[in-house]
Amino acid sequence: MKAAKKPTSQPEKTENTLVIVNSILIGVLVGLVLFALFRFITYKPDHATHYHANWQVWINGQQQMFPEPAFYQEVASCSINDDSDPLHRAHMHNNVYDVIHVHANGVTYAQFLENINSSAQKGYVNLAGKVYQDNPENKVTYLLNGRKLDSLSGIVIRSEDKLLINYGSETDAELIARDNDIPNKASEYNLKKDPASCSGDHTTTLQDRLYNIVF
Ligand SMILES: [Zn+2]
Ligand SMILES: [Zn+2]
Repeated sequence: MKAAKKPTSQPEKTENTLVIVNSILIGVLVGLVLFALFRFITYKPDHATHYHANWQVWINGQQQMFPEPAFYQEVASCSINDDSDPLHRAHMHNNVYDVIHVHANGVTYAQFLENINSSAQKGYVNLAGKVYQDNPENKVTYLLNGRKLDSLSGIVIRSEDKLLINYGSETDAELIARDNDIPNKASEYNLKKDPASCSGDHTTTLQDRLYNIVF
């Protein structure tokens, strides 16, 4: 019996070893696949910030529609890894003159205005070289969500803000109503994937996810 068993014990042992090695390999592979899947699902890019704010500019009773291309950024400039470029941080797109696209945290209205060669100070607003100043008849007014501000310096752009920059002789009540009447287009832009302009979904494309899992 002993002699008969001997020849079969060696292949049996090898077989057992193979089974163990295979199990380990399968285990490792399953682990890797699960890990990749987990990263694929949970992956969140660093530069995902993308929200919108509403603004309107009125000069002497006329809403400004900024037809010049210099007021707008090419959609191509909305690369997710472009935070170092100030132009990338806040801008307008596609001749939509009343929606600000924000692609970074902590961006101020002053920084946005700088991107369109403009500035908004106390009693003085410069819109790409056209200057409007307080005088006895007309006043520069800034209204943010119904609140009057002296200037826009240091004011961080928040999602769905309603900013009114006004120059003229309107009463406070008229201006508050005008600020109030600004439609919340930013909310639509926040909800839709914004594909015609700078899509926030940039950050969640299959390609981006795969790239970030591998590298
Ligand atoms: Zn946008
Ligand atoms: Zn953009």
